[in-house]
Amino acid sequence: MTFFIETFGCQMNVYDSELVMNILLQNGYEKASAIGKADILFLNTCAIREKAVERVIHKMEQYAHYRKKGKLKIAGILGCIPQYSSERLKKELPFIDILSGPDNYDKLPQMIKESIKNKRIHEDIRLYKEQNYDNMLPYRENKFSAFVTVMRGCDNFCSYCVVPYVRGRERSRSLNEILKDINDAVSKGITEITLLGQNVNSYNWNGMTFAALLEKVSETENLKRLRFATSHPKDISYELIEVMSNNPKICKHLHLPFQAGSSEVLKRMNRGYTKEDYLGKIEKIRDSVPGIALTTDIIVGFPGETDDDFKETLEVMEISGFDNSFMFIYSERELTYAKKHYKDDVNRKIKAERQKQVIELQKRIGLEQMNGDIGTIKEVLVESVSKKRKTEMIGSTDQNRSVVFENSGKIKPGDYVKVKITDAGSVTLLGELIK
Ligand code: SF4
Repeated sequence: MTFFIETFGCQMNVYDSELVMNILLQNGYEKASAIGKADILFLNTCAIREKAVERVIHKMEQYAHYRKKGKLKIAGILGCIPQYSSERLKKELPFIDILSGPDNYDKLPQMIKESIKNKRIHEDIRLYKEQNYDNMLPYRENKFSAFVTVMRGCDNFCSYCVVPYVRGRERSRSLNEILKDINDAVSKGITEITLLGQNVNSYNWNGMTFAALLEKVSETENLKRLRFATSHPKDISYELIEVMSNNPKICKHLHLPFQAGSSEVLKRMNRGYTKEDYLGKIEKIRDSVPGIALTTDIIVGFPGETDDDFKETLEVMEISGFDNSFMFIYSERELTYAKKHYKDDVNRKIKAERQKQVIELQKRIGLEQMNGDIGTIKEVLVESVSKKRKTEMIGSTDQNRSVVFENSGKIKPGDYVKVKITDAGSVTLLGELIK
């Protein structure tokens, strides 16, 4: 039988889909090249925003005809959404066969078998404090860049976030398992690794810190670039900043979500730091790691956010100089502390206006950051031929900035090339290949 997996959401879901692929391949299932050719379809989902839930339900409804007319025998939903709203899924998608939360992927072969025998919904959304998928490696879809999960779950309980409820409590993978995963990827020709966790800075395996883990992983032969995400401002340590400044394999890019500029709002978000703490860390990082690129996440319109609070968000953006920001309007999520205890009292118009302002400011700041690269020569990891123009290729710099340059016909995805930066937009650089 063949399977097809469609992935939604974050990089951790991309890793989990690759894990599921390998579990299915090892149990005798084969990959289908398209949904129409699959016997089994899984959507691996994200519940971080309410819209994501609606999108997945809509997608599965669109695919329902493959069940009626096509080859498809089993349709399942994996990941955070079954964990978050399994009752809604069962009600709105009555033809669904399998619902699995993020800690039950090793049981999928068994669930498929039972589902074929016995046509009812097979559901497993239990969470396990110890589930780390030990002794299981992912199937690598990308041939030069790979994600490696170093920890699962989160203990932070930011008041707006569902992650601790849908992905369970925090646990770190052992060094041995992480190195096995990385060595397997590198042995397949992969040269860029991104270490993943909801909060990598609280990695702790038998006392080993995340900074020590980075140092250890960077020793891997033939590994050229090492990245990581996501960092939490309250946990990012001076030890880590030191390692980033001294280790040439660790890329000069840091994603550090600040969420809101006002310390009052941050307190209600339960983020564990103030505006001053955040800006102090940014200053230290910029001093210690020259040329580092910073990106962030911002929420506008959190309950009780006043005009003055919002101005502080704009101020943090100005001072920090982010390359890019993921900018969201606050929306209530079931299960969370904010939904239970705070009134969603910033009106929709004001939220939309604030979002517009952060987007416009980010465009200007992003362009200023990118302009700084004009005239410099960058090493670029070639990623793909441009979708817009076949005569161009796209790659990324050490700072995770996208670069578009001419397709010489002699280079291919996975190559490292030197590119002279000639122009910049707010999120992309343009350059000329140095022959
Ligand atoms: S650190 Fe906060 S925002 Fe990030 S996953 Fe954990 S609870 Fe959610």
